[in-house]
Amino acid sequence: MIVLGVESSCDETGLALYDTEHGLLAHALHSQIAMHQEYGGVVPELASRDHVRRALPLLQEVMQKSGKHKQDIDAIAYTQGPGLAGALLVGASFACGLGMALNKPVLGVHHLEGHLLSPLLATPAPAFPFIALLVSGGHTQLMRVDGVGQYQLLGETLDDAAGEAFDKSAKLLGLDYPGGPAISAMAERGQTGVHLFPRPMLHSKDFNFSFSGLKTAVLTVVKKSESPLSQTDKENIARGFVEAIVDVLVAKCVNAMKHTGLKRLVIAGGVGANRQLREALNAAASKKRFAVYYPELQFCTDNGAMIAFAGAMRLKNNPALATTDYGFNVRPRWPLQELEPA
Ligand code: ATP
Ligand code: MG
Ligand code: FE
Repeated sequence: MIVLGVESSCDETGLALYDTEHGLLAHALHSQIAMHQEYGGVVPELASRDHVRRALPLLQEVMQKSGKHKQDIDAIAYTQGPGLAGALLVGASFACGLGMALNKPVLGVHHLEGHLLSPLLATPAPAFPFIALLVSGGHTQLMRVDGVGQYQLLGETLDDAAGEAFDKSAKLLGLDYPGGPAISAMAERGQTGVHLFPRPMLHSKDFNFSFSGLKTAVLTVVKKSESPLSQTDKENIARGFVEAIVDVLVAKCVNAMKHTGLKRLVIAGGVGANRQLREALNAAASKKRFAVYYPELQFCTDNGAMIAFAGAMRLKNNPALATTDYGFNVRPRWPLQELEPA
């Protein structure tokens, strides 16, 4: 079965073809980061319009790369939510219009299920059950995953998401949106121990997180400085920030592994691309004797491959999920816990 995936929940247009027999056939992506950068964040209306412009050329690119014809597609999976309403509507109408034209069934996919299952696209793929740390721009959640659609929330952030903390702290240091990768690169050159930032909720006996205080701590240091920050100052602050956030994320993962007794930890979402986080998790995993799995770097942030894959996994369990009723709705707010099991 060949599934076309369409992702458009935020500022990336992603299309991909996944074959349940042969794996990922092709994928194509356009990131709008450069367009939004001058505004310091995503402008929803600009995002929607750009998805309109990009969808068809990306479809053509995917078809060409895969060597398949549109008629070879068995079903079309699109991100139904959560995300920006206008951006989601573009992807949904594109997918449903294409489905109608080709006479192929469609199905809506949950964006976070896409992120969550993206490590299964890598080799070796983790087997169920596992603990998943989802660290993206909008979410920070620890989950127990027993199968496709079987997600038990263990804990989540009470305020900012990890990616949001990266981006906001980066902005305070004068870095462009989205500052996650940039502040992380800056931290590599910084000195450890110059700034000791708080580790929010490190010792709370649950699996929840809180990152807004960390951003405030960075702001306090920036404001306290009487002269403009030197490059070295910024590097040291970045270092302190990254160390604090990584410490908390790793500690909570280790606790979740211990609490559940599971032996596999899976990381998903954009912050999963972070090198310092991967290093610290790998060290903890070998010490505590569990295995840790990551998506390929290119599939940590938003992409079409994870949507095609999640759609294909759902359809494998239940082909009746795909419909030729092309009326659609999107769900900008859609907690993963409200998703039906596959
Ligand atoms: P959600 O999936 O929750 O709706 P999103 O789709 O915006 O949010 P992702 O695309 O998964 O989130 O990830 C984007 C986030 O990941 C941004 O906050 C970005 O700064 C962060 N990020 C990407 N690469 C890195 C990195 N190397 N280090 C730290 N953060 C990173
Ligand atoms: Mg994005
Ligand atoms: Fe995302």
